[in-house]
Amino acid sequence: MAAQRHVIVAGAGIAGLTAALALARAGLRVSVLEQAERLEEAGAGLQLSPNATRILISLGLRERLEPLAVAPRAIRVMAGGSGREIVRMPLDGAEARYGAPFWVMHRGDLQAALIAQAQATVDISIKLGTKVEDFATHRKGVSVLGRQSRQVLDERGIALIGADGIWSSVATLLKRQQRPTFRHRTAWRTLVPVEAVPEEFRAPFVHLWLGQDAHLVHYPVKAGRLINIVGIVSDEWSEKGWSAPGDRAEILRRFARFAWSEKARGLISIPDRWLKWALFDRSAPFRGGEGPVTLIGDAAHPVLPFMAQGAGMAIEDAAVLAGFLGASRDDPADALRAYEGARRLRTARAQKTSAKQGRIYGMTGPEALIRNLVMRMKGGETLLSRYDWIYKWQVPEKF
Ligand SMILES: Cc1cc2nc3c(=O)[nH]c(=O)nc-3n(C[C@H](O)[C@H](O)[C@H](O)COP(=O)(O)OP(=O)(O)OC[C@H]3O[C@@H](n4cnc5c(N)ncnc54)[C@H](O)[C@@H]3O)c2cc1C
Repeated sequence: MAAQRHVIVAGAGIAGLTAALALARAGLRVSVLEQAERLEEAGAGLQLSPNATRILISLGLRERLEPLAVAPRAIRVMAGGSGREIVRMPLDGAEARYGAPFWVMHRGDLQAALIAQAQATVDISIKLGTKVEDFATHRKGVSVLGRQSRQVLDERGIALIGADGIWSSVATLLKRQQRPTFRHRTAWRTLVPVEAVPEEFRAPFVHLWLGQDAHLVHYPVKAGRLINIVGIVSDEWSEKGWSAPGDRAEILRRFARFAWSEKARGLISIPDRWLKWALFDRSAPFRGGEGPVTLIGDAAHPVLPFMAQGAGMAIEDAAVLAGFLGASRDDPADALRAYEGARRLRTARAQKTSAKQGRIYGMTGPEALIRNLVMRMKGGETLLSRYDWIYKWQVPEKF
């Protein structure tokens, strides 16, 4: 009986842990296999828009997350060259407008809250230091082969959910997904104490600076104690991974004096230490899994960070998947195909819109001047309403 309710999730990132909680709530027993020996605080800031926070709150995470999250009052779009504000998109009424808050927070805080909630859930077990290496499907479901240093683990369940990130082993084994495509940019990230930045940038705002050949985003995390700074620049460095050391002199060079205002350069010059990652996505939409195997989050459809929807789409996937699998556990393969069908258009639209936004942010010369003028004329409210299709989204009620 128990085996009929058992689902195996590969990866304890944001997608995998949210899926575990949502699946357990739908009446399933879940084993999460994670390759990392320890889940240390990794990454920096994430933006969680209302489409994502609505789901996290419905899973009972508000109390754990709210004390660490920051609810920004607005997104301030700044001109990198002049240092002046172009437009301000108001977020102070976000909860009333979308029915859920807009939060920014540290990825490590979100992951720790998800783990704590999973550990408090009897139907979830997390197996660290376990890399998913292979699987075989059969009449009763799927057998998953995991490696724990020299030991081999054989887990059986009704379904395997590949939530193992952009370089997903499950996606490779499925042979249906294209390799990720390098987008010739790198993201540089760092965290600094709030007291280190000028007064103007300590308040709860998301700042987005648009400038020549680069853009810069910063906002407070950890209940406002730290400022997360991310600079995105054109680059040919394309190694895999999230946390390569970045050379401070290089990032300073990228935000050159002739193109960037003193205010923006001042921010870039504060940190001593930077980490960087190369930007990849996939041009083809998510093709779906096979039999009792599917993918969620970055494994299914990596999104460029220009709309800050990587975590959001992963969290949405988790909720929709659990809805279908919980409603139809007698036929898991059918439930997984229904999940894939329900997510295909939306995630493809998020991938496309993010890539387009990246092109808009990267404009230079007269094109950039026109972009700034158009943004100013439209105003913050109108610009914000272009995201309604993302922020207002809700998990379907019927599966
Ligand atoms: C270390 C790290 C730091 C990050 N930092 C940032 C950041 O600063 N800003 C940002 O916007 N995004 C960051 N991201 C990405 C962001 O978390 C994702 O884009 C988004 O949240 C979607 O999450 P995901 O769960 O699909 O993938 P991920 O968050 O990448 O999680 C995938 C998980 O699967 C595990 N895994 C991979 N292969 C296997 C395998 N074969 N078997 C078992 N487990 C496996 C990984 O160790 C990881 O824990 C980071 C991701 C990671 C892993």
